[in-house]
Amino acid sequence: MFRKVMSATIIGVNCIPIQVEADVRNGLPGFSMVGYLSSRVREAQDRVCTALRNSGFSFPAKHITVNLSPADVKKDGTGFDLPIAAALLSAFGYLDFACLENVCMAGELSLSGEIKGIKGILPIVDRAVKEKCRLCIIPKENAKEVEMIDEIPILAVENMRELADCAALKNWGAVRNSTKKWEDAVYEGEWDFSEIAGQEAAKEAAVIAVAGFHNLLMIGTKGSGKTMIAKSIPSIFPALSKEEAMEISGIYSAAGLLSQENPIMKTRPFRTPHHTASPKALAGGGQIPRPGEITLAHKGILFLDELPEFSRSTLEILRQPLEEHKICISRVSGNFQFPADFLFVGAMNACPCGYYPDRNKCSCSDTEVAKYMGKISGPIFDRFDLCTEMKQVPKEQLWKKKKGKTSRELREIIKEVYDIQKERYQGKENSFNGRLKGQEIEKYCETSLEGKKLLKRAYEKMNLSVRVYHKILKTARTIADLEKSEKIEVSHISKAVSYRALEKKDW
Ligand SMILES: [Zn+2]
Repeated sequence: MFRKVMSATIIGVNCIPIQVEADVRNGLPGFSMVGYLSSRVREAQDRVCTALRNSGFSFPAKHITVNLSPADVKKDGTGFDLPIAAALLSAFGYLDFACLENVCMAGELSLSGEIKGIKGILPIVDRAVKEKCRLCIIPKENAKEVEMIDEIPILAVENMRELADCAALKNWGAVRNSTKKWEDAVYEGEWDFSEIAGQEAAKEAAVIAVAGFHNLLMIGTKGSGKTMIAKSIPSIFPALSKEEAMEISGIYSAAGLLSQENPIMKTRPFRTPHHTASPKALAGGGQIPRPGEITLAHKGILFLDELPEFSRSTLEILRQPLEEHKICISRVSGNFQFPADFLFVGAMNACPCGYYPDRNKCSCSDTEVAKYMGKISGPIFDRFDLCTEMKQVPKEQLWKKKKGKTSRELREIIKEVYDIQKERYQGKENSFNGRLKGQEIEKYCETSLEGKKLLKRAYEKMNLSVRVYHKILKTARTIADLEKSEKIEVSHISKAVSYRALEKKDW
């Protein structure tokens, strides 16, 4: 008797469909499992047999063969317990085979027959939707993670008995799609933008950065509020769409970072790895790589505080993803590609003691200052669209009651710029000015004659690289969008140039 059941597995952050086949025939009693399996998958054999017996199913001594295909994909994890058990129950005649047809399932079994939650249920259900399955069976523990998916009926079960009972009643049909509606959520962070005193230029740079997805670098004296601004950035991001939230949640689900209390990522991730982080921690590591910080920051913010304190090799890892918005990792087990499209925000002091250029407090020599700045390579510097210099806010400004715009107000303004970009880049993969490439820049960054002249002058005088030249244009596009100007005018160019001006300063 031969039976097969659909399942899926996570490799890195990708989900691959797997067929679980069980064959039962007369002969020497035994159990063999094949199909390029890790030892964790092999252990399923003992778990499944014991769990089924303890759930009250008895089966005659026969030879059982279980195969997981395709054979060229290494299978790992405990999620195959449930499909193996279901295929066996069907092969022994406890489950009607018609019930299992075109049904995708995943879950771990305990010896008592309980079905336990697994990592990555969201991408698995999502894969089932794409494979046009008619039903998904998942552990009850994972039910919350997928309550926003309404494209497929989902049955969340607690134990094998319940599964068999549902199948016996043939009441798959009674399983209803989720009726939970998607609600927008915004990040209510520690700080509101209106609480930040002074630092108008830096705050404006942050708004431009978020509005067009431009990378932002803040350089300044200790205590000038760099970290405070960075931590407030999530609060000015417009709410995620359901699709974006599902994409981010899929990554977190695969990484096992979602919990019962936090079953879905409803706001953009804000990742702040410490400066002792290794290149692996940033890029993703392990034999079958786990997503690193840059992938966990996908569609959100990666904030590196004390940038020069990061090791050079860690920073260099960022070069490819900052250009291509994904990272490729090669391992013996294969090549992996992870998404890594994030807003990069960096902060740094201008010297080792942190007080430069305040010469009353800073005693670092010029060589020390130059060496400190030199810790960040030119290519990394070039990847920032906006660099802003921050000085300590004078005390009298600190107590001024006049407050700037609130995060909420800024969010509304940025939302409008998102809508402008969405319309402009309709049908394109990218929907942000900061992601324009090659010929698109020429096409979408139409500049007035005066603007062009200024840009040319800046290019020659500041001896800019082509990459920086393009970055200025893209930034100017966002500044123009913020002012609802269709054409890029000279004022937009000059503001964009001013945010690059400090790179040619001799520190
Ligand atoms: Zn110093």
